[in-house]
Amino acid sequence: MVETAQKTKGRLLEVEGLKKHFPIKQGVLGRAVGNVYAVDGISFYINDGETLGMVGESGCGKSTAGKTILKLIEPTAGKIMMEGSDLAPMNKAAMRPFRREMQMIFQDPYSSLNPRMSIGNIVGEPLVIHGIAKGKEKVERTTKLLEKVGILPEKMDSFPHEFSGGQRQRISIARALALNPKLIICDEPVSALDVSIQAQVLNLMMDLQQDLGLTYLFIAHDLAVVEHISHRVAVMYLGKIVELTDKKTLFKNPLHPYTEALLSAVPIPNPSLKRGKRIILKGDVPSPINPPSGCHFHTRCPYVMDRCKTEVPPFKEVEPGHWASCHLR
Ligand code: SF4
Repeated sequence: MVETAQKTKGRLLEVEGLKKHFPIKQGVLGRAVGNVYAVDGISFYINDGETLGMVGESGCGKSTAGKTILKLIEPTAGKIMMEGSDLAPMNKAAMRPFRREMQMIFQDPYSSLNPRMSIGNIVGEPLVIHGIAKGKEKVERTTKLLEKVGILPEKMDSFPHEFSGGQRQRISIARALALNPKLIICDEPVSALDVSIQAQVLNLMMDLQQDLGLTYLFIAHDLAVVEHISHRVAVMYLGKIVELTDKKTLFKNPLHPYTEALLSAVPIPNPSLKRGKRIILKGDVPSPINPPSGCHFHTRCPYVMDRCKTEVPPFKEVEPGHWASCHLR
């Protein structure tokens, strides 16, 4: 999907064949006896100002993919092209300018904020670390950031435990915005929040995207949340992307049986609306230590054929802008 090492016009991030395998070590010598194939060769791009949703059951590798793209963990193989530069082989020093452009918002606003720091210092800390502002200027910038996310700047000296879950996530967003990033990787940013608060935080993120031209990789297991915020959606299963297209097409015309099953399980708020046949998947996601041969989904697929057990289906563009990996397509 990613043809050249040059930046393709309009694309902020291009990921090609990204893998993250964790070795399993045993014995006194710590000899590698196998691998956890957490991310196993994913390719996609995200355009400037776009939100790509990444969805799948827990354990499918989506959070590992996010952390690997940011190089919080080192990739095993593949390219991570940020505005035309490959981050994959870069060391810490070479990564430094890109650290400002790429930020992450984590799932749990309780554990991702230092409980011993005031929120003013939490939000202003990246400005100090990167030598952008200190003293009065830091306070001024922090005030603006807190206002932007709907937190009263008068609360700057308060500590994280004095805020609700939704407010803490707003504080995390303010911290992520401190360095004027281009790309924000959002790892299940609303799943720890009450449903009533989720929509407020999602709407804030969409408003900020409009105002600041942000680009999001939005990782979630909840399809309704992904549908609300994304422009395009990638569906992950056992370390691989099995389907990728624009949101409307994915929800109307899913091509992969796994996507079909996920969509059939989404509750429909209006009981008078018809739903397609409910597809109930048997069993859990298989272990990424020993993924099934051929198509990784074959142990749970209602349409499985003999060849699915031995032949890996290619991830191909079935119709313009719509990729899927299934022998039926
Ligand atoms: Fe199902 Fe076979 Fe398609 Fe895999 S390749 S999703 S097992 S039909």
